[in-house]
Amino acid sequence: MSLKTYEEKRNFDNTPEPAPQQERSAGDPIFVIQEHHAASLHYDLRLEADGVLKSWAVSKEPTLDPLVRRLAVQLEDHPLAYAAFKGDIPDGYHGAGRVELWDQGTFRNLRDGGPEPMTIAESIEAGHVAIDLHGERLHGAFTLMRMKAGGGRHWLLIKKNDVEARPGTAGESADGATKPGRDGA
Ligand code: MN
Repeated sequence: MSLKTYEEKRNFDNTPEPAPQQERSAGDPIFVIQEHHAASLHYDLRLEADGVLKSWAVSKEPTLDPLVRRLAVQLEDHPLAYAAFKGDIPDGYHGAGRVELWDQGTFRNLRDGGPEPMTIAESIEAGHVAIDLHGERLHGAFTLMRMKAGGGRHWLLIKKNDVEARPGTAGESADGATKPGRDGA
């Protein structure tokens, strides 16, 4: 996937969002979670892979609680520079609303070893991502699993039960995943 969809959805004369440009970060791959006050509040999770940010709209605030599954709807790839973006997307334009940085840091691909190593891009393609996050809010291992439902766009974000896990802190049932609003931008 390229940044074509990202570019098609936006007019860069009208939005403060970064232009579609492919690049790589210097060190470890980066991740960011942006709190997006669009038509419905959601949390955009973005992981660096192959020079872009692979992106999912998480329906509710991500959590360290391993008992909770968060629905994450995969969206178009974003440029790497988007990781630093915060601000207001004007009314009437794609994703209109305020964007705030909720978490940021680097991550490690947990599937890059073993007998069948996979890059992050390959594990996204395969529908099973395992990463170790080094953020300010989120730490430790997470999995992203593609569901059969949702035409392949629906994934589940789940905290692995490691030393960073905080079971029960989300205060929700194990079926905490909810449907996002239609504007998953
Ligand atoms: Mn969004």
